[in-house]
Amino acid sequence: MRSKMLKFGQFHSSRARNMRVLKVVCPECNSKAIIRKTVRKHRHISDIYCACADVECGHTFVLNMTFSHTISPSAKSQDSLLKGIVDTLDPERRQMLLNLLQNPAA
Ligand SMILES: [Zn+2]
Repeated sequence: MRSKMLKFGQFHSSRARNMRVLKVVCPECNSKAIIRKTVRKHRHISDIYCACADVECGHTFVLNMTFSHTISPSAKSQDSLLKGIVDTLDPERRQMLLNLLQNPAA
């Protein structure tokens, strides 16, 4: 049921031609629904408040959106991971790392 209600459609605008937006369909009448607000309950969980765009239906409902999995890791988390590693190194190993970075072939 949920997978039928959520579809990703193309956003048609000259400014953001290839931007993807979440397409929500009313589970009662299959008309397009509008996202009224989102409430972030947790880093990985949001409630999405929706309203059917068909005035004759008028159904309002809440969807849950949850994070599933990473496909490619964030460059930001890689940066903090690297900094964490460098912070734990003693001066001698830092110098060794620096030498390796400056002259990787050696
Ligand atoms: Zn509806």
